[in-house]
Amino acid sequence: MAGRVRPAVEAMPSYRPGKGAAQAEAEHGIVNAIKLASNETPWPPVEAVVEAVRDAASGVNRYADHRATKLRSELAGWLGVDAEMVTAGPGSAGLLQQLCLTFVDAGDEVAFPWRSFEVYPVYTQLMEGQAVRVPLAGWSVDLDALAAAVGPRTKLVFIATPNNPTGTAVTTDQLGRFLDKIPKDVIVAVDEAYREFNDPSHGNPVADLVPDHPNVVVLRTFSKAHGLAGLRVGYGVAQAPLISDIDKTMAPFAVNALAQAGAVAAIGADEEIRTRVAMLTSERVRLVGDLRADGHELPDPHGNFVWLPLGDRTNSVYLGLERRGVVTRPFSGEGIRVTVGSADENDRFRATLAEVLEEPAGS
Ligand SMILES: *Cc1c(COP(=O)(O)O)cnc(C)c1O
Repeated sequence: MAGRVRPAVEAMPSYRPGKGAAQAEAEHGIVNAIKLASNETPWPPVEAVVEAVRDAASGVNRYADHRATKLRSELAGWLGVDAEMVTAGPGSAGLLQQLCLTFVDAGDEVAFPWRSFEVYPVYTQLMEGQAVRVPLAGWSVDLDALAAAVGPRTKLVFIATPNNPTGTAVTTDQLGRFLDKIPKDVIVAVDEAYREFNDPSHGNPVADLVPDHPNVVVLRTFSKAHGLAGLRVGYGVAQAPLISDIDKTMAPFAVNALAQAGAVAAIGADEEIRTRVAMLTSERVRLVGDLRADGHELPDPHGNFVWLPLGDRTNSVYLGLERRGVVTRPFSGEGIRVTVGSADENDRFRATLAEVLEEPAGS
């Protein structure tokens, strides 16, 4: 033991990232493994992003712009809001942590549907906050139950839509009714990490909720649809006073120079990225159709991943897939989350899944 670790940290699980293909190959003595475990895009970033990052590399002897001024202003123009309504962070996970740093004291409650994104309880615990997990109804977020779980100690609510890992979504109409039921001084973070893959008919929280709700912050990221997961850059949109409070907790130069340059270039390459997103959403439709044809029951997915509720079979199916070089994300006793990849990867996943399920149990 080195030093006297805070009990809150000692009790925390270490963050468990999705397993990489190389690690699975080494563990199982296989080759050609594919990673469908972290909801990344299957292709390298668009050329404009690679070029911008390469150019920015020659300036990394200098600190980046702490406030990411250019990125914020490009984001504001892109989203049609004032620049004071936008912040950027080291991934939207970084902004989730800043929200906890900004609002959660020891004993304060943070409410969120469960199961959902794994960092919500971790960052809550880091602040010695009290996580209030509101069970999903089926595989969907239960906004009535969530509203009922908000009490006088609740400071913060996290709602992922589409939800990770189940892929279900709520509409901005539903979120509006939820907001009407809870106190105005409870901050509600609408986590739209998968917005680009979502059905546009579900609404746009930036336009539909932020103008009338000073307590709403919408979080988005360049990690998923834009293919910049390795750069670490996400953003938040809210009314100006909330943004300036969140900004106080930003680590110095949190969004590095390469990430800022890459994100600005990604905004400029919006058309090209939309084309890729359209390819992935049509692959998702195809994959879901195929899986249902194979007899699987799964909720309608709205992100770049599908949720296979496998219950007790989860761990054995996960391991069977991994031994055959298909790495997915297991949630023990509940199901596996599988990223929609390229057409070849999706075909391989489907074929491998069928093979694994034909095995006698326990082999
Ligand atoms: C992937 C993900 C994020 C965070 O991604 P960053 O890479 O930190 O931007 C946030 N929320 C959900 C629900 C996610 O799945």
